[in-house]
Amino acid sequence: MYRSHNCGELTAAHINTEVTLAGWVQKSRDKGFIVWVDLRDRYGITQLVFDEERTSKDLIAQAQNLGREFVIQVKGTVIERASKNPNLPTGDIELLVSELNILNEAKLPPFTIEDKTDGGEDIRMKYRYLDIRRNPVKNSLIFRHKVTQEVRNYLSNAGFIEVETPYLIKSTPEGARDFVVPSRMNAGQFYALPQSPQTFKQLLMVGGMDKYFQIVKCFRDEDLRADRQPEFTQIDCEMAFIDQEDILNAFEGLTRHLLKEVNGVEVEKFPRMLYDDAMRLYGNDKPDIRFGMEFGELNDVAQHKDFGVFNNAELVVGIAVPGGNSFTRKEIDKLISWVKRPQVGALGMVYSRCNDDGSFKSSVDKFYDQDDLAKWAEATNAKPGDLVCILSGDKNKVRAQLSALRMELAEQLGLRKPDEFAPLWVMDFPLLEWDEETERYHAMHHPFTSPKPGQLELLKTDPGAVKANAYDLVLNGNEIGGGSIRIHDKETQALMFDYLGFTPEEAKEQFGFLMDAFQYGAPPHGGLAFGLDRLVAILGGQETIRDFIAFPKNNSGRDVMIDAPAAIDDEQLTELSLKLNLKS
Ligand code: ASP
Repeated sequence: MYRSHNCGELTAAHINTEVTLAGWVQKSRDKGFIVWVDLRDRYGITQLVFDEERTSKDLIAQAQNLGREFVIQVKGTVIERASKNPNLPTGDIELLVSELNILNEAKLPPFTIEDKTDGGEDIRMKYRYLDIRRNPVKNSLIFRHKVTQEVRNYLSNAGFIEVETPYLIKSTPEGARDFVVPSRMNAGQFYALPQSPQTFKQLLMVGGMDKYFQIVKCFRDEDLRADRQPEFTQIDCEMAFIDQEDILNAFEGLTRHLLKEVNGVEVEKFPRMLYDDAMRLYGNDKPDIRFGMEFGELNDVAQHKDFGVFNNAELVVGIAVPGGNSFTRKEIDKLISWVKRPQVGALGMVYSRCNDDGSFKSSVDKFYDQDDLAKWAEATNAKPGDLVCILSGDKNKVRAQLSALRMELAEQLGLRKPDEFAPLWVMDFPLLEWDEETERYHAMHHPFTSPKPGQLELLKTDPGAVKANAYDLVLNGNEIGGGSIRIHDKETQALMFDYLGFTPEEAKEQFGFLMDAFQYGAPPHGGLAFGLDRLVAILGGQETIRDFIAFPKNNSGRDVMIDAPAAIDDEQLTELSLKLNLKS
């Protein structure tokens, strides 16, 4: 028996008990005749005491030689501590050690195994197994476990069956590049790793599984933006014989269950917002509605004067910053530089101060009088003491810019509170999205998404205006899930592929299996997938997903611990019938 108890469970109730503990040496304090050692395992820390009077000199000498992170086993008696530590669950006691076994020595770790470590991100990732010993990472992984357990409980109770789908498949279009795997047995042929199990879960519906879920890895070879991982985890779900309302209810139920069980938070029925409204009011399809600052469109009240910048703009739009009139000129200048950064890309920012006496002072007083400025305040819902910030230009661009500014200001003003949860559904996404680069329409969600009833015809005349039976679940400004009601008949699916620029041959080549299946009685179906990593991070009150993933990759898609990706040897290449053509 390695241990009778763990390092987090001994209390005053155990005083005078003989116990055996095992764990890592967190730190020690040596007074010569007495040595204290903090022993740590997953469950906590127990203080060990080696005392020359009460045990032996020999044992003290052994204790003095212990290094940080040595793995040891100790036997001893639980005694009351002279100076208690109320911050530690085991703070009332210590273990008077009578026997010490060193199970394994340890090199000095390259960073301190403390909550606030001296190790930077890179070194922590290289020695992730040491990082995992630290509370913040350990607790995040335990938290993730709790979330996934609750997901499984909830969905199983609701009649969902967890089914595994294969990883070695062929392309599933979710809008990213595929990771591919060469097939040794089929020279010159490649599997693609799933960007999602989309087609398989639809086939499971054709197969009559009715309610499916899977906590599953997905792989997308994207240029990595901050806080994205090339492999990530979804809670992937699909249901048959349902309409959109059933899906929204089922997964609102799951989300509400998680908020309650994991966070102890009860949330009202989730609001629903049309995609068009989200874009108009927040410039964004994943609005953070924990705070206001809704957009006010100002074309009508700003385009009648000699101010060319506004007159020539497709959209003039502003937000009221609560209490922003207290910003100094310097602070406002800083905001202006912020919106002009290339990452945001605005050309400038107009502002109007809303004074407490009801008057206004704007950066464009030359062109606009008090009546005009009052209208701006009204349109943006600004109160005395606020600051109205206005951007103008191309509609899509300016919305994105003002949305970025809104989030930045909310961050600065402390309006994005991590313990506040504001979920909502964003509904009726456009079916298609124009891609400037390829000069083609792409499926905004994926090509299996059905258009809203009666809108199929519109595809011919005004494809960009067609709305889809597609919805996203948004939490605190993050998309945590998304899905759609699917097309379930061969003809519509073929039409859809056609509109998306697939030739019938290409469609057959890539998705023939799905179209075939649709000929054998496909039930109406739909579903959604949650991004588990992000969901867990948000429920955990964090913005970054990395510490909720045991072994994440860095921003260049590398695992710096195992050093992957890596070259393979010539023999392996030959076996796979591959020849490299590297550009040096
Ligand atoms: N497969 C979709 C995705 O990964 C989710 C869905 O439509 O169910 O975004």
